[in-house]
Amino acid sequence: MTTSDPILVAGGGLGGLSVALALGRKGHRVRVLEATAELGAIGYGIQLGPNVFPMFERLGITDAVLKQSILPRACIMFDALSGRALTRIPNDPVLRERFGAPYIVIHRVDLHQVLLDACRATAGISLEPLTAVTGFAQQAEGVTVTTEDGRVIAGAALIGADGLRSGIRARVVNDGEPKPIGYVAHRTIVPMSAVPEGVDRDISALWIGPGFHMVHYPLRHNTLFNIVAVFRTDTFGERGDSAFNTAEVERTYQTAHPVMKALLDKMDLNRRWVIADRDPVRRWSDNRVTILGDAAHPALQTFAQGACMAIEDAVCLAECVDQAGGDFAGAFRHYERARGTRTARVQLEGRHLWEGYHAEGIARDVWIDAFARRSERDVCDCLAWLYDGPRLTEPVAA
Ligand SMILES: Cc1cc2nc3c(=O)[nH]c(=O)nc-3n(C[C@H](O)[C@H](O)[C@H](O)COP(=O)(O)OP(=O)(O)OC[C@H]3O[C@@H](n4cnc5c(N)ncnc54)[C@H](O)[C@@H]3O)c2cc1C
Repeated sequence: MTTSDPILVAGGGLGGLSVALALGRKGHRVRVLEATAELGAIGYGIQLGPNVFPMFERLGITDAVLKQSILPRACIMFDALSGRALTRIPNDPVLRERFGAPYIVIHRVDLHQVLLDACRATAGISLEPLTAVTGFAQQAEGVTVTTEDGRVIAGAALIGADGLRSGIRARVVNDGEPKPIGYVAHRTIVPMSAVPEGVDRDISALWIGPGFHMVHYPLRHNTLFNIVAVFRTDTFGERGDSAFNTAEVERTYQTAHPVMKALLDKMDLNRRWVIADRDPVRRWSDNRVTILGDAAHPALQTFAQGACMAIEDAVCLAECVDQAGGDFAGAFRHYERARGTRTARVQLEGRHLWEGYHAEGIARDVWIDAFARRSERDVCDCLAWLYDGPRLTEPVAA
């Protein structure tokens, strides 16, 4: 292995494909090693803030993404008990004018496809499914990766984009399993024709209630509708069947607004996801190995920014590698410094706001009052640190 070997990326999720594309566009050779048989075959809806658009520009995929996206009319936070709209931000013109780009929703599969098409059209990127990375070793001039089927693959450096349960992180950071926070999520996509009367179909909605919330928005040229129900439960560690899950959802949401109940009736409650995050850490790299996205800084879904952060990481990392002239260890130190504070803020502020979304009793009264007092401008000001985006245009040199 030598520095002229390709850069290896473990994981072909949104972060892995983005970094492959960002590096490929700068002329680097990249091998994306993905455990599953098909890259990006499953998924639900995903919301993306205006901060991701400068990244799409750099990746050359803005138009392709916009073709598959919906711009919700507004982002509205509702009180889940009374149905009152607490904050409302029109997408166009308010968000677009303030941040220079819109807020979009897109089917994850479609975003993946845009990235896959762009990777396939870029010389030097090799996409390798059925290649589960099981370990790595570092040598003076490069890295070697071992795979589940016994292969040894040489590279100049290794980027772990292998998600929340990253095996690369386990070696580099070694801080155990992600922490479940006692909440679970159910996700469903239904045909738009199945959406009950009385539901706002053209907005991105967030309903906040005591111990539970719900998110919904349209997808795929308004033919589909994405619904996410998240709630606190002592049974988060158990694998319930559909009847168990349904009974629990009915109990949890008994005080919820009728619109939410009508949407819950449409949900497929067979499968649920345990919500987990990690504490932020300062170090993501060890010599020629680093991590990005959920492997590096998994956050709660409060800001709906996990994918955006992974894509920002990708662009920044490619920038650092490109400037380092083969000094991968230097590039990776530089990258973790450039990205650490911003991503830690998403993790930590996300936990704080999560409390507000799910508060009970008098704490809930306080949060609801605070949210309701915010004008459009106040909300934009609160989100400016996030939506204004990272300072990638400044020199990344330390
Ligand atoms: C309920 C829910 C709602 C969300 N909503 C939003 C949202 O609205 N907006 C948003 O921005 N984010 C959202 N997120 C977060 C977002 O999905 C993640 O932050 C994002 O997908 C992280 O991308 P990633 O590439 O780091 O990891 P992943 O997307 O998890 O990709 C990791 C990839 O690595 C592969 N892999 C794993 N192990 C190995 C291995 N050993 N070898 C090779 N390959 C491997 C996996 O198969 C996978 O393809 C949500 C998450 C949840 C749970």
